[in-house]
Amino acid sequence: MTRVAIIGAGYAGLSAAVELARAGVQVTVFEAGRTLGGRARVVEKDGRRIDNGQHILIGAYTETLRMLRFLRVPPRQLITRPFTLYVPGRLDFRAANLPAPFHLIVGLLRSRQMSWADRLAVVRLMRTLKRMRYALAQDYSVSQLLADTRQTPLLCELLWEPLCVAALNTPAHEASAQIFINVLRDSLSGSASMSELLIPRVDLSELLPVPAAQFLARSGGNVNIATTVKSIEADEDVFRIVGNPFEGERFSHVVVAVGPYHVSDLLAGFPELSLLRQQVDGMTHQPITTVYLEYDESVRLPEPMIGVANSTVQWLFDRGQLGGQKGLLAAVISARGPHSELSREELGLRAHEAVEALIPRLSAPKWSTVITEKRATFSCSPSVLRPLHITPIKNLVLAGDYVQSPYPATIEAAVRSGLTAARHIVRLIKAEAATSI
Ligand SMILES: Cc1cc2nc3c(=O)[nH]c(=O)nc-3n(C[C@H](O)[C@H](O)[C@H](O)COP(=O)(O)OP(=O)(O)OC[C@H]3O[C@@H](n4cnc5c(N)ncnc54)[C@H](O)[C@@H]3O)c2cc1C
Repeated sequence: MTRVAIIGAGYAGLSAAVELARAGVQVTVFEAGRTLGGRARVVEKDGRRIDNGQHILIGAYTETLRMLRFLRVPPRQLITRPFTLYVPGRLDFRAANLPAPFHLIVGLLRSRQMSWADRLAVVRLMRTLKRMRYALAQDYSVSQLLADTRQTPLLCELLWEPLCVAALNTPAHEASAQIFINVLRDSLSGSASMSELLIPRVDLSELLPVPAAQFLARSGGNVNIATTVKSIEADEDVFRIVGNPFEGERFSHVVVAVGPYHVSDLLAGFPELSLLRQQVDGMTHQPITTVYLEYDESVRLPEPMIGVANSTVQWLFDRGQLGGQKGLLAAVISARGPHSELSREELGLRAHEAVEALIPRLSAPKWSTVITEKRATFSCSPSVLRPLHITPIKNLVLAGDYVQSPYPATIEAAVRSGLTAARHIVRLIKAEAATSI
C-alpha cells in the first residue's frame, strides 16, 4: 500500500501533493481550514473577498513560477512590474528595461534623489557580496552588513531596511544577513527578470491552491477541507491519522505541511521527535498587519505600489491598479515594532493618514478592515535553527516555509519545501520497490 497523507493545504502542502501526484502516487490532503492556501489565502469580510494579507512574488521565485506553469495558470494572473522603489519625494528607483546588470546600473544613475555617495555605496555592497561569493563565514545582522559596507543613511532608511523587512519580515538589526544576501543574490544580481515584482491579479487561493486542487482531483487525489488532524500515530510500518472523519485511515508516508507552531502537537506521539519538537517550538514569530481601505472608485495612488517613510505604514498598494477593485487600497505593516501596541482603530487611522498624505482632501474610507497575522512568519534571525525536511521517522517528512532553505519564510520557500519533501518520498518509494523485487 502506497498512500501519502499530506497535512496542511498551504502552498507547501499543495506543492508536495502536486509533485507526488505527478509521480503517480496516491495522495490525500487534510486541511483544517475551509479555504485552501493557509497563510496565503482569500478571506471574506463584509461580503468582500480580500487576501489574508497583501503578497508580492518576485521573478526569482523560479519554483513557484514553474509550478504555476505546470498547473496552466495563465501568466496574466500575475502583474509583472520592473523592480521599483518609489517613496514620494524621497526616492524613485526603477530598474531599467535592459539586460542585467545594466537594469540596475541605469536605474541607479536615473534615480535623481540619489547622490553619488549613495550610488557608490550600492555598488560597493553588491561588489563585496560578489567577492564573498554571497557566503558569510558566520552569520550576523543585516544592520551589521550595512555598517560594514558603509551604506549611506538614505540607502539604509529608504532602500535596504524596507527591503529587509519586506523580504525577511524581520527588522534589520535582528535579521539574518546571510538570508538577506541570498535574496539579493537571486533577485538583484541575476538576470533582469529575476528582480521583477509579480503581484497577483487574482486572490491568493485562486492563484495556486485552487488549480492545484483541480489537478489533484483529475489525478485521483483527495483534498479534504475543514478536516483537522489531531495527531499522527505509527502502527508498525503504517501511519494512522487521528481526527474525524478519517479516524483510522492508514498511510504509508506522511508530509507534515502545517505552520511551525502546529508541528509539536501533531507529533506529540513520537518520543523520537522530541528534539525536533523542541527546535520548532523554540522558533519565534513576527506579525504582519494589512489594513484594507475602500474609498470612492476615483481614488487612485500615484503608483500601484508605494513605499511610505515616516509613518507606521510601510507600503501602500492600489488594488485598483493591480487588477482588482478600484478605490481599494492595502496598507502593509510588517514585523514587530511600536505599532504592535496600537489598537485596530488607531492602525486604521494611521493607514488613512498615510493615504491622505498622498491625496489631499481625501474623504474618510467607505469601509476598512484590519487583518493582523500574529505569526505571519518565523523571525529570520542569524541564530534561527530551521529543521531539515527529513525526520528520524523514516517515512515522515516536513514541508513548510520554516524548513531549512536559503530563503526566508516566503511562498517560494514553501513551494520548494513541498517539492523537496515530495521528491524525497518518491525516492523512498522507488527504493522500497527495488528491495521488494
Ligand atoms: C500577511 C502575510 C503577508 C505575507 N507576504 C508575503 C509576500 O509578500 N511574499 C511571500 O513570498 N510570502 C509572504 N508571506 C509568507 C507566505 O504567506 C508564507 O510563507 C506561506 O504562505 C507559508 O506556506 P506554508 O504552506 O508553509 O504554511 P501555511 O500557509 O501556514 O499552511 C499550513 C496549513 O496547514 C493547516 N493546518 C494546520 N494544522 C493542521 C491540522 N492539524 N490538520 C490539518 N491542517 C492543518 C493550516 O490551516 C494551513 O492551511 C506573507 C504571510 C503573511 C501572513
